[in-house]
Amino acid sequence: MIHNLAADVQAFTSNTFLVTGQQCTLVDTGSNFDVVGRVHDHGSALDRVVITHSHPDHIGNLGAVRDAFDVDVVGFDGSDLELDRGLADEQTLQIGDHEYTAYHTPGHARDHLCLHSPATGVCFVGDLVFANGGFGRTDLEGADRDTLVDSLKRISAVTDGSLQEFHAGHGPASDRAASKDIERAIRMAQQDN
Ligand SMILES: [Zn+2]
Repeated sequence: MIHNLAADVQAFTSNTFLVTGQQCTLVDTGSNFDVVGRVHDHGSALDRVVITHSHPDHIGNLGAVRDAFDVDVVGFDGSDLELDRGLADEQTLQIGDHEYTAYHTPGHARDHLCLHSPATGVCFVGDLVFANGGFGRTDLEGADRDTLVDSLKRISAVTDGSLQEFHAGHGPASDRAASKDIERAIRMAQQDN
């Protein structure tokens, strides 16, 4: 099960996904809300945290989560974050009950990862793409529009035909239109470049 613990939070935070199962995992910690309390509300013991990228709205609660749970913190190998395990491009890890492949997808942030489960067609896309076909900002330090377009094309290619839903760092998830949303983001990102 995938629960967005930040769904109703009115604060500067990203979405924060609790994925229950054999490897109970938090995808991004969010910021400025009591994520630890919300994990407890689900009765979950946390095994790991996966960070999609090191922007403050995605990692602000990381210290609190480390203090509260004996977790392995996982992110892109090459991130400035203090990690227990760094993932290289195309390395796999278990999230919940399924195996995910990590894709290094820079453009919005240098250390950006997307995590895709070929078995279920679920992809955590961070701030690469959003449910309406929007895409992550490329005017920030470490960002680059052409690189973002390349990353969008790569995620489109590796999820092609199997994508059931994606969960983005902000806004709602995308299900039936998920592949189309990525295609749209590619067009839009190229257009107003
Ligand atoms: Zn971001």
